[in-house]
Amino acid sequence: MFHAGINKKAGEEFLGQADKLEEACGVFGIYGSEKDVARLTHYALYALQHRGQESAGVAVSDGQGIKVHKGRGLVADVFSDRVLTDLTGHMAIGHVQYSTMGSGLAVNSQPLVCQYLKGNLAIAHNGNLINAQELKEKLAADGSVFQSTLDVEIMVNLIARYGQGLLEEALLKAMRDIQGSYALVVMTEDKLIGVRDPYGNRPLCLGKMDNAYLLASESCALDVLGAEFIRDVAPGEIVVIDQAGLHSRRFLPSVERALCVFEFIYFARPDSNIDGINVMEARRAMGRELAKESPVKADIVLPVPDSGIAGALGYAEALNLFFDMGLMKNRYIGRTFIRPEQNERNLAVRLKLNPVTKLVVGKKVAVVDDSIVRGTTSKKIVKTLRNRGAAEVHLLITSPPVIAPCYYGIDTSERAQLIAAQKSPAEIREYIGADSLSYLSIEGLYRALQQETGFCTACLNEEYSLGIPPEEKLGKHCSEISSRQRKEAR
Ligand code: AMP
Repeated sequence: MFHAGINKKAGEEFLGQADKLEEACGVFGIYGSEKDVARLTHYALYALQHRGQESAGVAVSDGQGIKVHKGRGLVADVFSDRVLTDLTGHMAIGHVQYSTMGSGLAVNSQPLVCQYLKGNLAIAHNGNLINAQELKEKLAADGSVFQSTLDVEIMVNLIARYGQGLLEEALLKAMRDIQGSYALVVMTEDKLIGVRDPYGNRPLCLGKMDNAYLLASESCALDVLGAEFIRDVAPGEIVVIDQAGLHSRRFLPSVERALCVFEFIYFARPDSNIDGINVMEARRAMGRELAKESPVKADIVLPVPDSGIAGALGYAEALNLFFDMGLMKNRYIGRTFIRPEQNERNLAVRLKLNPVTKLVVGKKVAVVDDSIVRGTTSKKIVKTLRNRGAAEVHLLITSPPVIAPCYYGIDTSERAQLIAAQKSPAEIREYIGADSLSYLSIEGLYRALQQETGFCTACLNEEYSLGIPPEEKLGKHCSEISSRQRKEAR
């Protein structure tokens, strides 16, 4: 839980970030609509719900002030008709949060709303700062107080410090201090701002609906509202929407783009397009590439729903194999990965997926999933399929092994928990109990994405383009400090 603690290393008092959130989230913003902006934002959050199920929030501005409603749970749990009716205004921002390790304190929900020199400000963030600890210590030493463990609160403090002139200028200065990944939506009483970090690590796109401008983590949120996709916000771009329309500027010298490849592997919704790549097509192509690299003679191809479906389609079509939805997903429980404790996760996998016994009895089954993180899901699936009479179970993974933690917002866990950081593919196959296990190669992944450069692949090859948190560098290697300890150190 959040607490003020003692930084033993420095011997100084500082504000702890014991349960720091991993901020792989979804953000949305709308400016200038005559329609009910709070309701539109909450619909958009439904479309972004896959990006975070722990908390949701909407802040609206009516030109005079900002109102916010946020809370823990799914969008449907947090918003009622009455709440939405009370949120009146002409612009709004929204956020869905994905958190881990029991960190779901209400105070950590977004958007964060505060008052600074120039008035009210609401802000929502997707990403993760790598120099958060350092900045927080500096700010705290200078007298800042913090109420949450959110990186975005650090940004708000920086904006407040630089906030003598235009908000854009304050943001620009703050962006020079922060390092890491961020897609931000910021709202004052009279303007909406979207910002994407210089590496473009997290997605953010721009849309239009009648006279209104929209910003969204993924284009599927624009589709759902019937809005037109205009373009992706460029890496290092700051987009300002106000009465005068839309203005844009680059805030930092451009660096080579490092868009998170895991958005394509797992995180984003297949109907979204990110930086010109359709997620569904990319996943299907990953399946086809895997079929070229590792064909198996199977009687049936089964996807692990939902994230394995596109890859399994590609795999089956490339090899002309029979495809069926032989694993039934219970849609009424959240993603198992989110459950904090291991024993809960095991149960969650059983609750979540059940095979259609008739389809698998006596069959050589090829099971396709997008990734293996801890190995929990795959092990359970293989065991269940064998129990139901499958003759052979082959596991096909449409991404390379996840060998390293992500510091930029996707919760791919601490190294000690990543099975591919600990075991070779042969050992993983044995642990999981499959007849064979094949991963897509990194070259195959690039072929599927039709681009070799421009992606952050740190979790797959440890190339951390955005750098690593200084506290990680203290140890001999990143693995020396678990992410839990890292969180506690904050
Ligand atoms: P595990 O059981 O830990 O091996 O997790 C693998 C399953 O979790 C796969 O079915 C993936 O689709 C899914 N997955 C992969 N990465 C993530 C993530 N960052 N958050 C939630 N689920 C994930």
